[in-house]
Amino acid sequence: MSKETRSLSKLVLSIAPSQTLEITAMAKQMRADGLDVIGFAAGEPDFDTPQNIKDAAIRAIQMGFTKYTPAAGTNQLREAVAHSLKERHDLDYKPEQIIVSNGAKHSLFNTFQTILNFYDEVLIMRPYWLSYPELVKLAGGMPVYVDVYQENNFEPRPEDIERMITDRTKAIIVNNPSNPCGTTYKEETLKAIADIAIRHDLFIISDEIYGDLVYDGKSHNSIAHFSHNVYDHTIVINGLSKSYAMTGWRIGYSACIPEIAKHMASLQSHAASNACSIAQYAAVEALTGPQDDLYRMRDEFDRRRKEMVKLLREIPGVTCAMPEGAFYVMMNIREFKGKSFNGRVIHNSKDFTQLLLESAMVAVVPGSAFGGDDFVRLSYATSMDNIKTGLERIRKFCMSLEDGKPMYMQP
Ligand SMILES: *Cc1c(COP(=O)(O)O)cnc(C)c1O
Repeated sequence: MSKETRSLSKLVLSIAPSQTLEITAMAKQMRADGLDVIGFAAGEPDFDTPQNIKDAAIRAIQMGFTKYTPAAGTNQLREAVAHSLKERHDLDYKPEQIIVSNGAKHSLFNTFQTILNFYDEVLIMRPYWLSYPELVKLAGGMPVYVDVYQENNFEPRPEDIERMITDRTKAIIVNNPSNPCGTTYKEETLKAIADIAIRHDLFIISDEIYGDLVYDGKSHNSIAHFSHNVYDHTIVINGLSKSYAMTGWRIGYSACIPEIAKHMASLQSHAASNACSIAQYAAVEALTGPQDDLYRMRDEFDRRRKEMVKLLREIPGVTCAMPEGAFYVMMNIREFKGKSFNGRVIHNSKDFTQLLLESAMVAVVPGSAFGGDDFVRLSYATSMDNIKTGLERIRKFCMSLEDGKPMYMQP
């Protein structure tokens, strides 16, 4: 007899451990051993948090702003967020429609817990940010994938979305600009998605965490802006981690209709209470203070983006789409599958990543972690020097790969 009383949650057991852990651990070990590993695996800005934001946090501590706040966030921060959504995206939200959480990831967790019932389906563009499927499953929902292709700059085709809709479809996640692909959606793509969502009465979960990091003079539009009806269907997710180099501070937020916000606030009040009071205080400074550092970081990302894409495209066999937002490039490694290095065959993105790390000492993330095995993801949240040296190593590695079967498999 199995001891049912001590069996663990089936939901939690259904969650996959992070596929990137193994590679990250290996890179870490190599660095600890004194090896000069160049890292393109980072999922966060390499910049320090701007000084005015740090100073605000120190002031908060000194004035004793160190107690519980309202669970959904301080009035001051919710007002600052509402103001910023109006200024940047022309979206009208009242402070009570904003729920401040421990990072955008927590806002997404709250969202799925609030809207999903068992077996509800959520549409996710693939390659996807790796937490989406697990967050959906944790709420009892089922991830359903819509494949996107490099040929289309990783934007979904409306007919591909439409095809995956069933009578169980509850929501669609739109991550614009996207991680891992760096795609910024064209206005007509957003409009098509919004139309589909309205026609099938779906929630739109709009993860806009990279909304400030768009290049080529483009501005970021929220899908919520099309009409009142679309606005009502949309839950906007955003946060300060990526824009303000504040990943460790844990401030994210959701913005949606009051009815949903009310339930999210109640969920969060029991699960986590408020986000850190000090970080909330600093977040007000981030949103309302001078924005020079944000633009400086964005411009630096832009320079690195261009350099990385240029160097990648110079490698024979490599293709990549030009990312227009966030700080990632998807390097297409399809040409290298079946090739070998020192007798070891590359079957998939994980083999490629492992061999690249061992032999060229460059760390990337295998695309399989995002459901895109023809790719590896490179982050340009690292110095220009690292980009130049690292890409030269990648070029040498790719050019050293050999055709055909490895020695030990030959008769
Ligand atoms: C980093 C990231 C988040 C979460 O950021 P937080 O640090 O939790 O605010 C959410 N979505 C995407 C696509 C991300 O890359």
